[in-house]
Parts: sequence; C-alpha cells; structure tokens
Amino acid sequence: MSNWQEEKAKKNRQALARLTTALPRIFPPVVLSHALGRPFVPPTPRLAIDAYWRAHPLRADRLARALAARGNAPDGWLWQVSPDRKSGLPATFRTPPAPYRERAHARGPGFCCVCGQPVYRFGWHADLWRAGANKNATWHCACVTAWQFWNAPSEQVRLLRRLQARRCGQTGRRLWRTAEVDHRVPLFRVWSEHRHTPWPALLDYWGLPNLQVINRDAHAAKCAAEARDRRATRALRAEVADRS
Ligand SMILES: [Zn+2]
Repeated sequence: MSNWQEEKAKKNRQALARLTTALPRIFPPVVLSHALGRPFVPPTPRLAIDAYWRAHPLRADRLARALAARGNAPDGWLWQVSPDRKSGLPATFRTPPAPYRERAHARGPGFCCVCGQPVYRFGWHADLWRAGANKNATWHCACVTAWQFWNAPSEQVRLLRRLQARRCGQTGRRLWRTAEVDHRVPLFRVWSEHRHTPWPALLDYWGLPNLQVINRDAHAAKCAAEARDRRATRALRAEVADRS
C-alpha cells in the first residue's frame, strides 16, 4: 500500500471508531450503510446523515416537498419579493418561496424553516428516538440539500441527464455536453402567472417536476419564444389599457 492509502485506511479506522461510539441504538439503516460505503467514512451520525442527503439530492427534493405538503402557508402569507434586505423577504422571484424563513412567520427552534415541520435528532425528519423536537435545529438535513438543489439545479446536471437517458427534454435528440438545466415553466412566468398557487404546491416549480435538461440551441429557441410571448402580452395589455 502506498503511504497515501495507508493514511486513508488509518483515517477511516479512526472515523469508524468515532462513528460506532457515537451511534445511537436506533439509526436509519439506509444512512448507516451509505456511510460505511463512503471512501471516507463520516465520523459522526450527523455527518453521516448530511452525506446521505448530499448524495441523494432528488430524494431530498421529493422529501422536502412532501414534508411541506403536511402543512399550509401561515395565515395571511403572500409570496412577495423585495430588493430591501431589511425586509427579510427574498430579493428575487428566483428564490423558492419559503414562508417560514421570513421573520414574520418563523416557527422558531425545533421547526424547519424550509418546510415548516418539526426537526428531530440529527436533523432527521421523523422522531425515531421519541425524543421530541430538536430545539437546536431550524433545518432538516434533507431540506438543506433540497434548498441547495432548488437554488442551483445546474449543479446536478449530470444526475438529471442520466434521469433523461441523455435525451434532450425539448427535442428528444441526444444531449450535447453543453446541455443546460431549464425550468419547463420559467420562473418569471411562475411569478407573473402562477404567483397565487397555494404554498407549498408552489415549490413544485423549483423541484424535479419542473426541471429538464435541454440542448443549448433548444434552450435559446425556448427563451426567444418566451421573450416573444412576453412582448406580445405587454403589447396586448397596452392596447387594452388605451381602449379603456
Ligand atoms: Zn424541512
């Protein structure tokens, strides 16, 4: 074994010993088997859970939306954006709407600011330990990964390409290396036309149901068509306003 391999094996033995000592009697088996199969074993249960969700962003996306679907938006909440940072609102419509991240509606420690549901030990979403909500947490580990995925889906382009069997979501042709991640319903249209969709259904526009990988030329054509539509809608609105 090379020095590097010896070093890695030693680190892994130490990490495994730490993990085994810290591991509670009850622990999600899928997370444990994922941790033990890593090239570098995560040394704590919490890191094992983080690593599991980071490796499965689509599962995290599905779970975060399912958790959010257990509740509703707070009474009186409306999806709003504001360039004023002090407002505590998202600066742009590109950020997924998350009422419980807004100061006015935050549920406080023990609740996830993305989905609004209780957070349990190790940032897990179910109380496997019957220990009640974890008052030190304001995010589920799964929701952290989902949030990153919703905000930067392009980082998972390889995963999404595989899911589409490397075919362009728009034309069905083979995907080029330069293919891009696209929101089927563009986010500007979600804001202008679907803004009043009740939360949490709104989140689907950021999740897998609204994502596709398409070739660059198809993407450019789609954007041009969307821009044409927008111009036509504006012209029509102006005409209607002139007549009234
Ligand atoms: Zn959550």
